[in-house]
Amino acid sequence: MEQTFIMIKPDGVQRGLVGEIIGRFEKKGFYMKGLKLINVDRAFAEKHYADLSAKPFFNGLVEYIISGPVVAMVWEGKNVVTTGRKIIGATNPAESAPGTIRGDLAIDIGRNVIHGSDSVESARKEIALWFPECPVNWESSLHPWIYE
Ligand code: ADP
Ligand code: MG
Repeated sequence: MEQTFIMIKPDGVQRGLVGEIIGRFEKKGFYMKGLKLINVDRAFAEKHYADLSAKPFFNGLVEYIISGPVVAMVWEGKNVVTTGRKIIGATNPAESAPGTIRGDLAIDIGRNVIHGSDSVESARKEIALWFPECPVNWESSLHPWIYE
């Protein structure tokens, strides 16, 4: 089944939003397949955001991501990449709909509390980067109650 990489950024961890954010993915019906609290260094953050290296905000973004621990996660479920992005909301919290994580919990684009893979292909790359040890393989007993 499809998987996505979700990261609660340092502001989300510092603000005590970890439980709130995990709860939204759990309540939707997605399965948690990987979870760790880690500090990443500059080289790792630059690798994760390599596609954005030409952007004027790149250095600030890297500083932000390395400024404290992040919660790195793998979530699994039907259409989890696209649906995960909907749950997260638009990049700029000023444009994120109410009911989304960024729409409800953030104000500034440079402090938007969460990352989610933008395609199945980036999810595959990001999971390989963040979880070289491989996500956990388990089957939820809720499966028949969530999928027809
Ligand atoms: P998303 O996280 O929604 O996929 P992007 O991949 O375009 O968005 O950008 C990655 C991250 O870079 C954003 O989540 C945000 O933290 C930061 N960012 C994007 N655009 C800006 C900007 N104009 N100014 C400051 N930070 C930005
Ligand atoms: Mg992105």
